[in-house]
Amino acid sequence: MIYLDNAGSTIVDEEVLKFFIEDNNKNFANPSSLNGLGLKENYEIVNYKREILNTLKINSTLYDVIFTSGATEANNLAILGYARKNKNKGKHLITSKIEHPSVLNVFKELEKEGFDVTYLDIKADGTIDLDYFKSIIRDDTILVSIMYVNNECGCVLNLDEIKDVISKSNNKKIVFHSDLAQSLCKEKINFSLFDMFTISSYKIHGLKGIGALVKKRNIDLEPLVYGGGQEFNLRSGTLSYPLIHSFAFAIKKYIKDFDKNYAYIKSLWDFAYEELNKISGIKVHNDFKRHCPFILNFSTINKESSIVVEALSNKEIYVSTKSSCSSKLKVVSYVIYELTKNENEATNSIRISFSKFNSKDEIKVFINALEEILNTIKGK
Ligand code: PMP
Repeated sequence: MIYLDNAGSTIVDEEVLKFFIEDNNKNFANPSSLNGLGLKENYEIVNYKREILNTLKINSTLYDVIFTSGATEANNLAILGYARKNKNKGKHLITSKIEHPSVLNVFKELEKEGFDVTYLDIKADGTIDLDYFKSIIRDDTILVSIMYVNNECGCVLNLDEIKDVISKSNNKKIVFHSDLAQSLCKEKINFSLFDMFTISSYKIHGLKGIGALVKKRNIDLEPLVYGGGQEFNLRSGTLSYPLIHSFAFAIKKYIKDFDKNYAYIKSLWDFAYEELNKISGIKVHNDFKRHCPFILNFSTINKESSIVVEALSNKEIYVSTKSSCSSKLKVVSYVIYELTKNENEATNSIRISFSKFNSKDEIKVFINALEEILNTIKGK
């Protein structure tokens, strides 16, 4: 098997899994319980939170970590929670057109509740035009939510410049959130740029079922889940010590190994890019000012990408696409469309995404298989 869908999900790190299994035997108490075991777990969870903030070089006296089930829930909590709690301050919200559905669909919901949302255009180079951004900030703007690394094409957005515009604006009440689900441990990030940000464990060789919203302590949110009052009353429900411990460990490990992993994955990206460019009928999406080497997106011009992905899958080579082969209805990638304005490319895009467990030899096998498949399938 050749697994090139690491932006979809990563292989669980052996050490992470070891902690998780051990904890399920040892630390299975309820951290909200007032018995000795519960109190010990609760104390350690507080330490894991501090450890996460320290690892990310964030001031732990200013920020809190709220554990959630993953990035979807963290995005919902940040955006819905902030807008609903602060609607008296303003009704204008800003996001981008290439956000993950767990952000875009939340803004669509908020429009139904009476909020006014601006969806920012993204230039072909994967950045936001700063003059345009400046021009849409209003006195009643309360929230800007823009991702850092895009999950489909890997472009890195110019959030440091966006932050600069927000800081210099006369409107001092804007809160800046970023969905960092595809960015954590994959790009060097100044996390202090953000008032709130979202992370998820299984994108960094951790387990599924845990993510977090990290937010400045003085930001008020409305909870989405009510109950026993865990997580500062923002996300009730019993915490999972084993998931939290393994997530904190994964963050520490993959931040520590960042430079080594990044250099290796960049060498895979460079190799795949060079080889893909030799194949006719392929358009690699790389017009970006900056791209994250963990993700590479290309389109199969005049060949249905869903058929290509299925044929690769039959050879146990796993990549990802937007369109579904069984469906008559072609799914256009709104991300690739926004960047290219080309419907054919947006309908036939394929994403390959790497991890440290991939090798150049695997990429060679993938390239050969892809060439063979493209030569055998009819054009559309
Ligand atoms: N945001 C981005 C950018 C993502 O790539 C994903 C996962 N594909 C999510 C949010 C949702 O993450 P989760 O599965 O942890 O809810």
